[in-house]
Amino acid sequence: MVNKMNGLDEEINLDNVFMPNISSIHETIAGELMGFGGLLRCSVCGEKEHFGRIATNLRSGWPKHCGFTMSWVTEKQLQEEAKLSLETIKNGK
Ligand SMILES: [Zn+2]
Repeated sequence: MVNKMNGLDEEINLDNVFMPNISSIHETIAGELMGFGGLLRCSVCGEKEHFGRIATNLRSGWPKHCGFTMSWVTEKQLQEEAKLSLETIKNGK
């Protein structure tokens, strides 16, 4: 992009202007989200994927499996699920 407004024909590379900040935003968000833990799971086949690449996922797109975006199951949700399945076993259902 050439900025002719100031008469300097100054070349402005938007990638250089914005990319470092966007990158650090991804890292910051990833850092916050990592605290929730858990994993990514395919809602179709149940395939699980490690949650560790979240910064990459935020930058380049959330992983897909069986044609659908994978669900993020937090550590808390995993514990709830484990508790529920234990109760189901106990209740004989
Ligand atoms: Zn799948």
